[in-house]
Amino acid sequence: MFDRSFAQNAGKCALKTSDRSLSYNELESLTRKLARVLETRYDLTVGDRVAVSASATVGATAVHLALVRMGVSVVPLSTAYSREELLYILRTSGARSVIAFNEDHHKISAGVVDTVEGDRLLQLASVSSEGELSKSPPASSETLVVFSSGTTGRPKAVPATTSAVAHNLISLADMWGLSSSDSLYLALPLYHIHGLVVGLYGILSVGGTIHLHEKYDPAVLAAQLETGEADVFFGVPTMYQRLLRSGHASSLRNARLCVSGSAPLTKALFTEIKSASDVSVVERYGMTETLIISSNVPRTGVRPGSVGVPLRSTQVTIADDQEILVQGPSVFNGYIGSAGNTCTVPFATGDLGYLQDGYLYINGRKRDLIITGGHNVHPLEVEEAIQEIDGVLEAAVVGRHSTEWGEEVVAFVVPVTPMKTETLRTYLKERLSYYKVPKSIYFVEALPRNHLGKIDRKTLQESLN
Ligand code: ATP
Ligand code: MG
Repeated sequence: MFDRSFAQNAGKCALKTSDRSLSYNELESLTRKLARVLETRYDLTVGDRVAVSASATVGATAVHLALVRMGVSVVPLSTAYSREELLYILRTSGARSVIAFNEDHHKISAGVVDTVEGDRLLQLASVSSEGELSKSPPASSETLVVFSSGTTGRPKAVPATTSAVAHNLISLADMWGLSSSDSLYLALPLYHIHGLVVGLYGILSVGGTIHLHEKYDPAVLAAQLETGEADVFFGVPTMYQRLLRSGHASSLRNARLCVSGSAPLTKALFTEIKSASDVSVVERYGMTETLIISSNVPRTGVRPGSVGVPLRSTQVTIADDQEILVQGPSVFNGYIGSAGNTCTVPFATGDLGYLQDGYLYINGRKRDLIITGGHNVHPLEVEEAIQEIDGVLEAAVVGRHSTEWGEEVVAFVVPVTPMKTETLRTYLKERLSYYKVPKSIYFVEALPRNHLGKIDRKTLQESLN
């Protein structure tokens, strides 16, 4: 996946943090040394599955890439997982070992699986020779096991093959015009597809530069864009929201490409960014199970509100109930463990939407659909309408059990300035069919969200009980 870009960009900067920088040459050398230590000292080899618990550092990234080079399947973990989460993930993924960069995870894993201290591994590599690996990885085998975000239940273990990842990266590079002159500001978690595959792999496979940040900071993003250090930004909608609120959104005008994904980018947010920076954010849609499915086309084909056109060689169809179905070389073959080992072809995404002029539009998740008095209400549509109202920062809509209607629409609204329920309701009555207008509106200080900025609807629903 990376051989060519590493060879062709030898002297160029590959990875950079505030205190460390590695050229492609140096990264290549470090991963070779690491691979040698992992093979000779820790007996890891082609076909093993190894979990890596690390934050976004240059050293941990090199360890990840060393495992990929060896043909070991990597299970990337967040250092923030609790004991219970970590044990669930280790059990479900079937990882043989854990490389832990934090003490807690090292301790928890010891006794469950083989454990390796990440920093110790880096030390050993620094005094090791490069050498050649005894076995070379097969052309297409499992290279990653990524856990889904756990928005709808427990995270599911999703395996991905080298060929699935490679297909996706080639199509993305093509659609977004990625090249070795790109330099990416990357502050997304590196244990989900967005940060890891789209961000890290996407840029390293074309020979670009990655500015790696452990935390997202709108001021730092703005500074890197303004000085020209970074010219590509991949973010989730809440990152764009924070950039706007920090007053730095105009810095986006220096970027070559700004992409949003993982959660819906509302039209209101798209428009606010456009008026602050004149940039049309490129929205794309994907899942752990399918990798990236569709994307808007930078400059020539950005349609606000749409998640774009299917990637080359990916087929998107819409079922009778509006569920989005996907087929193609990047779709997985089945979950690992208790989530079940079968999956349908085409794969049913659980998301609802429609195609118009070849562009895909998402209405929301099938399980979030509210059925009230026999009418279907997509929370996203109501949320969009509420967010258009002046003085509203954001909104989330869920269904509440009702003996009369089956379910009724309830909204949680984060106001910028104090406002009255009646003001909102009057506006919404003009804007929406009567059954879509929330029966109850609650003003809250913030919406519960996970680390990718996805609304935690379960918590909201529970708060209604
Ligand atoms: P879980 O499957 O564990 O419940 P999850 O579905 O949130 O969690 P991911 O695979 O990380 O886990 O996320 C994929 C989902 O994210 C998609 O099914 C879709 O609902 C949502 N999503 C991704 N990109 C977009 C987008 N641009 N617009 C709207 N929704 C999106
Ligand atoms: Mg999912």
